[in-house]
Amino acid sequence: MNLEEKIRTIKDFPKEGIEFKDITTLLKDPEAYQATIQKFVERYQDQEIDVVVGIEARGFLVGAPLALELGKSFVPARKEGKLPAEVVRAEYDLEYGSNILEIHKDALEEGQKVLIIDDLLATGGTVKATADLIQEIGGEIVELAFLLELGFLGGRDQLVDYDIYSIIIED
Ligand code: IMP
Repeated sequence: MNLEEKIRTIKDFPKEGIEFKDITTLLKDPEAYQATIQKFVERYQDQEIDVVVGIEARGFLVGAPLALELGKSFVPARKEGKLPAEVVRAEYDLEYGSNILEIHKDALEEGQKVLIIDDLLATGGTVKATADLIQEIGGEIVELAFLLELGFLGGRDQLVDYDIYSIIIED
């Protein structure tokens, strides 16, 4: 199945000049959504992973079903002020604006193997901040996974320390 054609592009959202990739069109197609999760399952079912970390909010939509399929833990990395227990936090720049991400301090045990997943890799700031948080709380990062990577934004350049897997790469 061609998953790329299930994702639509919306011009000038959320700001003028941004071409926003909208995955809701893929999510509402059950076969496309299942095929997406299946792709990740195939890649990770034989790898040593303890925890899938999904990045708010669209990372939850791929991370939670993947964790269930793999029979592994799911941990959310959330926007500022959403998590109730003690957190570690990181501030980072976005393609449009800046943001703070948090994760519970007790989300992982020291040395656990972590897969970080999000819908989309753009400049890489979001996933880099998440990776920093995982390392701060003692996790070992196995790989960074995305449904769609905007290759022309060069996100990989600031992620040279990590293995990266993207189902779709747009150059
Ligand atoms: P980065 O930090 O620049 O790599 O941006 C990636 C983060 O922003 C991810 O959490 C994405 O969900 C979100 N994001 C950036 N651009 C888009 C887009 O075009 N469509 C959907 N999400 C996007």
